[in-house]
Amino acid sequence: MPTKPPTMPKQRPSRRLRTPKRAKEGQRVAEIFHRFSLANPEPKGELEHINPYTLLVAVVLSAQATDAGVNKATRDLFKLAPTPQKMLALGLDALEKHIKTIGLYRNKAKNVMALSQRLIAEHGGAVPHQREALEALPGVGRKTANVVLNIAFAESTLAVDTHVFRVAHRLNLAKGKTPLEVERGLLQVIPASYLRHAHHWLILHGRYICRARGPRCDACVVCDLCFSPDKWFDCGKPGSDTSKGAAHT
Ligand code: SF4
Repeated sequence: MPTKPPTMPKQRPSRRLRTPKRAKEGQRVAEIFHRFSLANPEPKGELEHINPYTLLVAVVLSAQATDAGVNKATRDLFKLAPTPQKMLALGLDALEKHIKTIGLYRNKAKNVMALSQRLIAEHGGAVPHQREALEALPGVGRKTANVVLNIAFAESTLAVDTHVFRVAHRLNLAKGKTPLEVERGLLQVIPASYLRHAHHWLILHGRYICRARGPRCDACVVCDLCFSPDKWFDCGKPGSDTSKGAAHT
């Protein structure tokens, strides 16, 4: 009876084979953020504020609302109530009148009053720097805490809103199903030197260029580095100089 030939053990791809692909992908991601940084070296958020407290209030008010709509309502409000003490003195009814053009304003007004009380009672009227302390405030979740930590305290946090979520998927930067998964994925792939501003670059890119409907691929500075099925403009191979540049990224 013929003897069965010995079966060869299955070979796993060696690190040497996988490394170049990973390195190439790392170069693509670094190039994406390099171009964002060239197009807009000091990106700024669009929510108007005059101190960390008014930033916190503006972000709380911005849930399911546009920055422009929030700014319109807060311009006068923040002149009258730029601190938690002055917000409490203003009172719930007056606050509601100022922000009644913003969706869910009654609930948001209650949260602003409650968080103002907590800031005075537990933090001496200041906005805390710690994520846990921020997230313990009424109406403040992880996204709001990330925005405040990034803008008010210059931390390299990354808030994932609908724009960041979409851009992360289209540019194949992070593929998570939830904002938290995408946030973690982005923090892993974005080079440390770009993390401080990545939040704004991705939001502005999503808001003005990589729009949900009708992305402006012909004006996209990273068009040649994008392999999304939503891309409609032929901008050539990576590195080809056909992108037009984008004012907001
Ligand atoms: S090429 Fe189009 S789909 Fe890709 S990132 Fe740019 S705007 Fe978005």
